[in-house]
Amino acid sequence: MPELPEVEVVRRGLEAWVSGRTVADVQVLHPRAVRRHPAGGVDFAARLTGHRVGSVQRRGKYLWLPLGDSAAPGCSVLAHLGMSGQLLVQPTDTADERHLRIRVGFTDDLGTELRFVDQRTFGGLSLHENTPDGLPDVIAHIARDPLDPKFDDAAFHTALRRRRTTVKRALLDQSLISGVGNIYADEALWRTKLHYERPTATLTRPKTTELLGHIRDVMNDALAVGGTSFDSLYVNVNGESGYFERSLDAYGREDEPCRRCGTPMRRRPWMNRSSYYCPRCQRPPRPQ
Ligand SMILES: [Zn+2]
Repeated sequence: MPELPEVEVVRRGLEAWVSGRTVADVQVLHPRAVRRHPAGGVDFAARLTGHRVGSVQRRGKYLWLPLGDSAAPGCSVLAHLGMSGQLLVQPTDTADERHLRIRVGFTDDLGTELRFVDQRTFGGLSLHENTPDGLPDVIAHIARDPLDPKFDDAAFHTALRRRRTTVKRALLDQSLISGVGNIYADEALWRTKLHYERPTATLTRPKTTELLGHIRDVMNDALAVGGTSFDSLYVNVNGESGYFERSLDAYGREDEPCRRCGTPMRRRPWMNRSSYYCPRCQRPPRPQ
């Protein structure tokens, strides 16, 4: 799955190349790509046609294109990238990708179109009514992400302490904080020297502040790398191959020496995934 920085790079690309353009026509080439739009592909195409794409938005790993000119438009196209979904802006005369699922043409003469390409068809596009906050209604429950200027650090700390859970579960709880996936959680916990099973009730305010700072740093580092390769027409995200050359300190480093203390890193199964940590820097919590 793409993580927040990858999705943000896609958002910037769409903002540069698609925002402000008016949809001329839509071709749905595979029904699975619009399965989250119950009225089907023909309806999906008809409801997009003639509308102008507003400023492209993101919250956590969710990305959407508001339709319409007003500041608070009524509908948005939500993009689900799934495991292998890609949003490409391509010259109209470029040959179709093998797994092209949806094509969106525009009324202008810029000579490019938007393509949704998805090998495994877990992803897709769907149209939704917006909440008064301008969020597609199906993601109204998603909390702000740590790169959002309106993210409230103090409120997050209070919610963490109140929630009787462990720190990594809390970081992956999209109703508490969005956009932190398994990789960035392990990286930020390693930097903060916190074990993933540390009860949130034991976190002090300074520790929460430190943790949030490290989460923002690992995301911004990834964005800085991704940003450098983004100056072409080709807007791309592929969760399988990984868009960024990540330099990771924890994730995927089982048995390799901790970059701080040299102790071999460990991997433990965790909620159908893995947690990577340094057994010396990130001491497990004492049993209660
Ligand atoms: Zn260590």
